Amino acid sequence: MITGKTKLLGIIGHPLEHSLSPVMQNAALAHMGLDYAYVPFSIKPENLPDAIASFTAIDNLVGFNATIPHKQAIIPLLSQVSDIAQAVGAVNTVWRNEKGWSGTNTDVEGFLAPLNNLSPLPPLLKEERGSQNLSPRNWHQTTAVILGYGGAARAVVAGCASLGCAKIIVVGRNEQKLNDFLDSWRNSTAIGQLSVHNWQELPELLSKADLLVNTTPVGMYPHVDESPVSGDEMDLLPKGAIAYDLIYTPNPTQFLKLAEERGAIAIDGLEMLVQQGASALRIWLQQQDVPVDVMRQSLRQHLRLETSARLS
Ligand code: NAP
Repeated sequence: MITGKTKLLGIIGHPLEHSLSPVMQNAALAHMGLDYAYVPFSIKPENLPDAIASFTAIDNLVGFNATIPHKQAIIPLLSQVSDIAQAVGAVNTVWRNEKGWSGTNTDVEGFLAPLNNLSPLPPLLKEERGSQNLSPRNWHQTTAVILGYGGAARAVVAGCASLGCAKIIVVGRNEQKLNDFLDSWRNSTAIGQLSVHNWQELPELLSKADLLVNTTPVGMYPHVDESPVSGDEMDLLPKGAIAYDLIYTPNPTQFLKLAEERGAIAIDGLEMLVQQGASALRIWLQQQDVPVDVMRQSLRQHLRLETSARLS
């Protein structure tokens, strides 16, 4: 129930109709019995500066998420931006400070969450790979291959750099955009590990991958039979490698099915979505204990309902 004391959280973006953040954040807030509401604020790009200035005047607005197309554009409008958000070049979580608004990026933490409990290679498979002897959680000898160089890829590169991956290889289809992407990391510590490659080089790169991440939208609903990597190419992925798809509908994607059939460990995009949201909620509420299970369940239920509505 909304009362006169209700505090506000929300998300800014354009369009916002398909955002899942209100579903999981309101489920968490209701479960915690807090007098908060999380609402969508649909803001056109040209209105962003006015919107942020007006937000300052709303006393009960505690914080908000930023999504496409505002993740980069909001940075100069904030009085403080965290190091991780500076490195990624994007802000997705904003909260109030004495001077205005502070921003950070919780996508990196969200991306890392499912990887933190994983060894890059199951112990049984180590011998098969001969010289590589990877101990659990030892990422320092691993090669990450990232498909795509868009907004999400930036959080993935920062995540792989923080894991300490020896090589971070970004694969894309446009030479100029690849070079621009590489150039944008020139002041970052990740630059030493990072290289960019054309899509034609993918087969050779796949054979070296310990972690393969799809950050392209290829395979996302309704194009559920598509995959950025063909079955023949996926044959080249070493057994025991991790295949991570940022897409969460369908679940699993064709990319993950092909990888899993060939002995890869599959991770879908739902957990990243849940964990970046949980991390934002921790910041706003200034408490560690947030109901991650409730957030995950609310999303699963919502996506199930959406799927059955589409099929009926
Ligand atoms: P984006 O900024 O638009 O970037 C998309 C990237 O994919 C671009 O590099 C684009 O390259 C590439 N691409 C598109 N179609 C391609 C194709 N047919 N072949 C090869 N490359 C292609 O989008 P984004 O914000 O990074 O999001 C990407 C995906 O990640 C979406 O599916 C999104 O839903 C998902 N995502 C998930 C989470 C999560 O929490 N799980 C978070 C963020 C994003 P060009 O520029 O050359 O087209």
